[in-house]
Amino acid sequence: MNIEEINSLIEEIEKDKVKAALERKKREKIRRRKEKERNQKIAWYQISSFLGFSFFSIVCSIFLLIKNYEENKNVFSNREVVIDADKVDDICDDLEEELGISIPEEENEDYLVLSAIQKNSHLSKEEKEDCYGIIPIIEDNPYLNKENAYQSLKELCIKHMNRPKGTENEVLGEYLFFDYQINIYDEDIKKTTFFHELTHCIYGSMDHLINLPRFLKEGMTELLTCEYFFEDTYYKPSTYFGEVLATKMLCEVVGENTVLESFSTGNMNPIYQRLATLSNSTTKEAKENIDKLDDLLDKRFNTPQKNHDIWYDFIDVSVYFDKCIKKNFEFYNYYVYYLDDYFLHDYIDIWEISNKVYFNQELKQKIGTPGIVVGMATSMDKNQKQFVKNKKVST
Ligand SMILES: [Zn+2]
Repeated sequence: MNIEEINSLIEEIEKDKVKAALERKKREKIRRRKEKERNQKIAWYQISSFLGFSFFSIVCSIFLLIKNYEENKNVFSNREVVIDADKVDDICDDLEEELGISIPEEENEDYLVLSAIQKNSHLSKEEKEDCYGIIPIIEDNPYLNKENAYQSLKELCIKHMNRPKGTENEVLGEYLFFDYQINIYDEDIKKTTFFHELTHCIYGSMDHLINLPRFLKEGMTELLTCEYFFEDTYYKPSTYFGEVLATKMLCEVVGENTVLESFSTGNMNPIYQRLATLSNSTTKEAKENIDKLDDLLDKRFNTPQKNHDIWYDFIDVSVYFDKCIKKNFEFYNYYVYYLDDYFLHDYIDIWEISNKVYFNQELKQKIGTPGIVVGMATSMDKNQKQFVKNKKVST
């Protein structure tokens, strides 16, 4: 976006602020009038009941109360163009006080996202309401390119269609970066595919597309979708089980903020630099190991049987991450074990041992505990491995 475009954007938002304030005043007026009418009617019926029509008037009063309540609810529902009515109230209150003057910065950001979605001419009302769920992801992320996110949400369109020929059955939906378009190929009752693609949508930039390893792009997208849209540390089953696990590993090693920075900016250097410092090696070596990990996770779709080269790669990657952080050694052993098994087309149900919240600040407070990442994997012997093996679920 150039300066001119940004300026015209700000101008549009200013206009919207004034419009929203006037709208709210109008609604407030209607609400007060209706309240007054309701009170008058109630008073009238109370008097009549006092005069002897008690039973009849009580019934009438209740009827009117319900009727008026419904009417008021409808008046209020006009405001529910956003996901959280309290938040809108706050914004509107500020607008009323400072008509024409800029609203506080932290709310400005919300308003920016809101107005982007509201201005979108391709989305239905219901789709827009679903899109409002993206606001906290944007709020919690200091590294995100807000203009990109704004533009993508403003232009976004959603298409439900048959899977195109040549697209693998595992692909449930796609986000087409250049068209700002989400394609949904399967029935999506819980909207898991839609929310995943919507999360892709706000991170769309060329750097993001080109520079990031595939596992990080999908793992982070899935992890954010789970934390923010489903209030879950990991919503399963998912196509991206291994990718999410690898992303969580990386968060444990370099810190979730570093991972969020690289993911949001499309620049892997913060992760490489941190890995290099931790392992006392070079950023080149860090990159090689991340690439190897990405390759391993990618191969799991195409390699039905375990083969030795892949196994040696596992060991290499594991040893490297072991160098980066000693205390999580067992976790990586476990991870290697899990991947090894994955090649035999089995899943091991280990998600409960990695239920840590990384990004959703509200969920972090709600869950209260930091979660256990290493847990069961510590000093696992043969019998324990057998126990874990028995827990696996075939899909
Ligand atoms: Zn994806």
